[in-house]
Amino acid sequence: MSERLEKPSDEVLRDKVLALEAGDVMKAYRGRPGCMCGCLGEYFVTEAAREDAGEETGYPYDDNQVDDGKVRRILQKIQREIRAGNPTVDIEDGLYYAYVENEAGSRCWAIYPWEPAKERLKERRARVAQAR
Ligand SMILES: [Zn+2]
Repeated sequence: MSERLEKPSDEVLRDKVLALEAGDVMKAYRGRPGCMCGCLGEYFVTEAAREDAGEETGYPYDDNQVDDGKVRRILQKIQREIRAGNPTVDIEDGLYYAYVENEAGSRCWAIYPWEPAKERLKERRARVAQAR
């Protein structure tokens, strides 16, 4: 069996998220748990990743959603909760997202790292090119 097929351990995933900086994040979310379309909260993108984020989501982000500071604060919030051992921390195996809720379950935060998104966009562009 190839090592690449093995599921990374929770600890490995947590360490990866703890090592992220704002520049590694494509978009960040804060809102109420539930639907993640944006009806219960807000998405923010970094200036650098804005274009990729728009392509990934399927529509462009507004100027007021481009906010490196808010992306950084949401990332730091998730990193604090990981260090505190918050049991709701959920990190996708491919590191497409990291998600956490507060204790009351009334608020949630998520970040979407840029590198895995870039890979997905590359695959999507290749499929589109092939279909032509
Ligand atoms: Zn919704």
